[in-house]
Amino acid sequence: VATAVLLGSLTACGQEAKGGSRYQPEEGKGSTIGLAMPTKASERWIADGNNMAKQFQKAGYKTDLQYGDDKVENQIAQLENMITKGRSLLVVAAIDGSALTEVLQRAHDAGIPVISYDRLILGTPYVDYYASFDNERVGRLEAQYIVKKLKLGEPEKGGDAHNIELFAGSPDDNNTKYFWNGAMKVLEPYFKSGQLTVRSKQTRMNQATTLRWDGGTAQKRMDDLISKNYGSQKVDAVLSPYDGISIGIISALKSAGYGSKSQPLPVITGQDAELASVKSIIRGEQTQTVFKDTRKLAAQTVSMGDAVLNDKKPKVNNTKDYNNGKKTVPSFLLDPVSIDKSNTQLLVDEGYFKAGQLQ
Ligand code: BGC
Repeated sequence: VATAVLLGSLTACGQEAKGGSRYQPEEGKGSTIGLAMPTKASERWIADGNNMAKQFQKAGYKTDLQYGDDKVENQIAQLENMITKGRSLLVVAAIDGSALTEVLQRAHDAGIPVISYDRLILGTPYVDYYASFDNERVGRLEAQYIVKKLKLGEPEKGGDAHNIELFAGSPDDNNTKYFWNGAMKVLEPYFKSGQLTVRSKQTRMNQATTLRWDGGTAQKRMDDLISKNYGSQKVDAVLSPYDGISIGIISALKSAGYGSKSQPLPVITGQDAELASVKSIIRGEQTQTVFKDTRKLAAQTVSMGDAVLNDKKPKVNNTKDYNNGKKTVPSFLLDPVSIDKSNTQLLVDEGYFKAGQLQ
């Protein structure tokens, strides 16, 4: 099979492609761009893929959009395929940020540029640019919301004690540590002042991670946290880094009797402003989410990609914070926005949802 693939992609004149590879990528306008997205299990990635395909097509390109079903080996196979088919550019939202070193070496050998999308690809020099949201700020927005909602005030002044439990994202996603660090910078003074207590004592990121951001995994962990640590005590807040995780946490809390007048749900954060969760916020279950407009991220990536493919320098606004272990990747970071019951209308005003969808 490998030979057949290889022969099929040899250049007509038999010359080697730039970079010494035998694969010949297409180039410039009219070429086909490979879009490798992680999963269709979450709305946001479906929107990311569709937005990028639409916008790249509008800019004069063809697109090859693939989803890896959250399986690392699928994503690697999809990227291999894009390379052998001579895609002109790869835009990759990695499933496991550290698992793409070999395949990106092959992309490099074939002279194919790579844009890391939303999640930074680690351990390889062959990532040209990174487009994402300010990931640390996402964590800060979630934590600041908890502080405000619990009315904790200034940590120096002290105040009432509250219980909080902490969830982190997938351990193989580079964003996870940025979200976590952003949140911890805000919460740590309140752990010190005694206003926030993690009764489970699971306060380190590696105790709080949720493999592949899976809601069911989060639900099981929350069941466990409640049954082992909250006899007569109540959970007042849960730091959750993603709407799908928040859904799992809310199910666990409801099974344990939360969600009534006498025992209201705690403050629960989230991320992505997914439709089901925005509705949950309107119903008064989830409390907050972080809106990251996937259309804007797509637009940014398309303009980056268009520049790369036309030998121009893409616009970046951060050249220091995203080192992937091999290089500091020039990045463009967009601003995330905190959403709660008071400003869900923003999602309608911005055209992210239609008013009818939120009823
Ligand atoms: C993204 C988040 C998303 C999470 C789970 C992260 O890499 O930045 O927006 O919630 O993956 O899909």
